[in-house]
Amino acid sequence: MVNLSSLSFFQTLRAERRSKQFAVIGLGRFGRAVAATLHKQGYDVLCIDSDEEKVAQALSDRIATHARQLDSTSPMALKEGGIFEQDTVIVAIGNYVQESVITTLNLKEGGVPHIVAKASSEIHMKLLKKIGADHVVFPEHEMGCALARSLTRPGILERFELDPENSIVEVIVPESFVGKSIAELRLRSSYGLNVLAVSEDNRFEINPPPSKLLERGSAIVVIGTNHSIEKLPV
Ligand code: ATP
Repeated sequence: MVNLSSLSFFQTLRAERRSKQFAVIGLGRFGRAVAATLHKQGYDVLCIDSDEEKVAQALSDRIATHARQLDSTSPMALKEGGIFEQDTVIVAIGNYVQESVITTLNLKEGGVPHIVAKASSEIHMKLLKKIGADHVVFPEHEMGCALARSLTRPGILERFELDPENSIVEVIVPESFVGKSIAELRLRSSYGLNVLAVSEDNRFEINPPPSKLLERGSAIVVIGTNHSIEKLPV
């Protein structure tokens, strides 16, 4: 889910016309995945770690355009390393809260326009937001929540949370809906849900008519409150 508070961050990122440059600080599993994906998409990626071996590894694995060994808690080292000139810097230091917080503060004071930081706990997340990180992710928490939801509602294939109360979900057509039309099921009046799309032969029909019959094994995409979605039969 993209939190509404992060909306302005993504809006400003999108509005930037010049070619984007990224720096990733911290080459653990998360930082390496971010760097590798950006690099594969053809972006300029500068990788930073205090550990010489991690820096060498990033270069030999070709997940970075450039890589430097430096201690990001030192503002001078960041300045000399050219980090303050980057458009977007990702702070991927999870386990060392103090280092992560100091690094984020340094980047903020150095005038980096877009700062993304990875948190490893609720309090870490709060600290990063207070310091001024533009976008904070907490992958272990977010993945844990998503996994629990997919285990308890296996019929829900995808969920896009619009805000804490409302979602768009892709669900397998419940058994009791098979052979019935959207109008007959009265999804809007009985469940408070609007059907956005129905799958047929590996593609979706968008805005299906009320007469559309739901078939076994198909998927439907609906929008509504989480409460209404929970009421759907499994
Ligand atoms: P993973 O992504 O594997 O779960 P993580 O996010 O928990 O890892 P950490 O173990 O916290 O990552 O550290 C990531 C990297 O950050 C390590 O490679 C570490 O060397 C680097 N790092 C820690 N402190 C600093 C610092 N002050 N300056 C630069 N790099 C640092």
